[in-house]
Amino acid sequence: MSLLAGIGYFFLGSCIGHGLPRFPFLLMSRTNGFNTNFPRHPEAIPLSPHLTQRVLHMRMFYWMGMAAVFLPLSLGLVSVRWGNAAFGFGLWIAGGWYLLNRLQSLIGGQTPPWTKQMALELQILSNLAEQPGGCCNWTSPYWQVTGIVCVNCNSKLSNMPRPDLGRKRSERKPLGFLRLIISDGYPMLSVPDEEE
Ligand SMILES: [Zn+2]
Repeated sequence: MSLLAGIGYFFLGSCIGHGLPRFPFLLMSRTNGFNTNFPRHPEAIPLSPHLTQRVLHMRMFYWMGMAAVFLPLSLGLVSVRWGNAAFGFGLWIAGGWYLLNRLQSLIGGQTPPWTKQMALELQILSNLAEQPGGCCNWTSPYWQVTGIVCVNCNSKLSNMPRPDLGRKRSERKPLGFLRLIISDGYPMLSVPDEEE
């Protein structure tokens, strides 16, 4: 195997090893049928039980990757032993990196993009909106890119930036996909992709 072919196989392996464990969050819930309760992608989302549930679903998809990552890891092992070593090594590196990355959030690193805490805060804010004594008489909280805002009186209710919520992206296919791969679901604050 020439060096160039080796690098090519390694690259292919690491791409697959990078993508496979992210499949649950990349693909599930992106179809239109899954998103009938939400406005289309870049628009702000009103707080509702559907939204709280979606955050919990995204959190589940995120952790499902921990099970999916054993596929590239075992495939890599088999490949290094009996097949194309460069390809297997690529799978291993990417899969192992993913595993380390997820495990570090358990011991106090960066928290996942979707947490139970986040769902709880959404629920609390949405409960508050239904009680009198809020920011205004017709509190209607919406989750915008940079935080939760009452669209009626424009007061900011929370500074929690909005992560990806599994809606079909408004960008063209490869671009939206690329952006998801790069951001890994975390909020992209630098991109003003929303009108108020
Ligand atoms: Zn208000």
